[in-house]
Amino acid sequence: MSLWYYEIFENKSRLGLKVNKTVFQAKSEFQTVEIFETDLFGKVLALDSTYQTSVGDEFYYHEMIVHPALTTAPQIRRVLVIGGGDGGSVREVLRHQEVNHVTMVEIDAVVVDACKKHLPEIGQAWSDPRLELLIQDGVAFIEKYNGGPFDVIIIDGPDPVGPAKGLFKYEFYRDCCEKLSPQGVLVVQSESPHVSSESFIDIVSELKKAFRAVHPYLGPVPIYPCGGWSYVYASNQLNPLKIIDQRAERIEKACRYYNRDIHRAAFALPNNLKRILNSK
Ligand code: SAM
Repeated sequence: MSLWYYEIFENKSRLGLKVNKTVFQAKSEFQTVEIFETDLFGKVLALDSTYQTSVGDEFYYHEMIVHPALTTAPQIRRVLVIGGGDGGSVREVLRHQEVNHVTMVEIDAVVVDACKKHLPEIGQAWSDPRLELLIQDGVAFIEKYNGGPFDVIIIDGPDPVGPAKGLFKYEFYRDCCEKLSPQGVLVVQSESPHVSSESFIDIVSELKKAFRAVHPYLGPVPIYPCGGWSYVYASNQLNPLKIIDQRAERIEKACRYYNRDIHRAAFALPNNLKRILNSK
């Protein structure tokens, strides 16, 4: 008999995956952490029964949360990643040779240790000497941070529940904005605009209180509810379509999804989303 794993989305739909084997299971101080092997996506990471990433489709998400910012910010020497315990985002950041230092702040050591051990295909950059990994709450980290400004901040958090709630609030975005360089940029994953449009709209509204220029963009993530995902690019003065060609050309050779055409297309929003955003 086959074993199936279901992510139940808001008690309205469920995405089932046939599981071949459970690889890891633990209950941390913050959440239930599971890794299992599936036919469709290979190894999958789930937190509190919610799919986070998989070996088979992670590149859609990690390339799109990282490269639009890193191919448009004038300086990318100092990067902060909050969350991202699977290591996929820092791997993509560290592909850029101009990056000197990445601080990654992840709340849950159990996620990091499990991903280092069982998902090495995703976190390929754990031993890069430019990476500083801190196990702590990203909200508290940014509130207290008094070091040099960051050029780019990537918020790679889960859904806005539990310990991640604070990662979606105005006060957190305001603190991030204060710790960015004047020409810096923040990118946050902003849920499904198609099936969680309230969360998407809330995130955009909270960001607008903290930043002058807020640009949502879209991309597919097959393992997330209904497959269509969004991100927001927030800055005080950057144009997300002003791509630094030389940098993007170099990086797109290593990518499976991201390229300059995809970058430009991702910022084109359909009418239904334009209308709901304009009505707020
Ligand atoms: N791609 C995923 C998604 O959109 O569902 C996010 C993946 S990543 C595994 C999310 C990480 O954020 C988790 O490892 C979780 O432990 C971490 N996290 C949650 N709240 C956090 C907080 N307040 N500070 C830092 N990390 C946090």
